[in-house]
Amino acid sequence: MEKYGLLRQKLQEQLPQIELSLAEPATAGELALVHTPRYIEAVFQGTLSPTEQREIGFSWSPGMVDRATRSVGATIAAARCALVQGISANLAGGTHHSYADKGGGFCVFNDVAVAARLMQAEQARQRKQMQVAVIDLDVHQGNGTAHVFRADPTVFTLSVHGAKNFPFRKEASDWDLELPDGCGDGEYLQAVNVALQAIDDQVRADLVFYIAGADPYEGDRLGRLKVSAAGLMARDQRVMDWAWERRIPLAMVMGGGYGHVIEETVDIQVNTFSQGVRHWQRWQNRPA
Ligand SMILES: [Zn+2]
Repeated sequence: MEKYGLLRQKLQEQLPQIELSLAEPATAGELALVHTPRYIEAVFQGTLSPTEQREIGFSWSPGMVDRATRSVGATIAAARCALVQGISANLAGGTHHSYADKGGGFCVFNDVAVAARLMQAEQARQRKQMQVAVIDLDVHQGNGTAHVFRADPTVFTLSVHGAKNFPFRKEASDWDLELPDGCGDGEYLQAVNVALQAIDDQVRADLVFYIAGADPYEGDRLGRLKVSAAGLMARDQRVMDWAWERRIPLAMVMGGGYGHVIEETVDIQVNTFSQGVRHWQRWQNRPA
């Protein structure tokens, strides 16, 4: 939990050109684009069973509901802003282990899934089907997202993750790549290249959600990989260059990061934002 406040503080100090704003909480109606009425009701009313709370990983409180709905709201805001500005981000989010009818792995609602469906609904007013792609580079598989969109060709789900890491029963994304324990920079960046090529081969996205997990980092407690901070920055740069070359708006969320040294995780996220600022500048300077 500590990392969220630290990230905000470091961004204000190191990248003051980033404009921060407070997101509205997502409404029950927005959440219902993905989640079942029973599950939304159970979270809002505090009637989740003990088993459901155990699976989520923390117990119910009014604060938990506020955090969960605001986190989805911030990803919605980031997606809307990205469609106008080229790039925007949630300082948290990436709750990809949440399914339509249950939470899991510290995820209550699936922020990216809700925002993807909402952007599609808003775009539908212009009688155009929006194609979305989710690039999930958190070290854990985006199992909830994969399951939500398993039969939906308008949202392409892609996940690059540790083969031996949580969740131990994986879902089938539209495209998955599993990495071995101890995977280093070279192999990791090659996997990212292959993943970006896979999107090119299969869809032409109008909007991309990027889960820029900091947990493939070699100093992470849960990651099991050996990717350096420089390797992760190169990864972010590749994803953003890819989006820029295709002029696809990019909504970024943070995903996981559990460094032995918490400041190292936050510094990796700050690097992600510094790449984001570079990306935003070229987007603003593009010829009309
Ligand atoms: Zn993770």
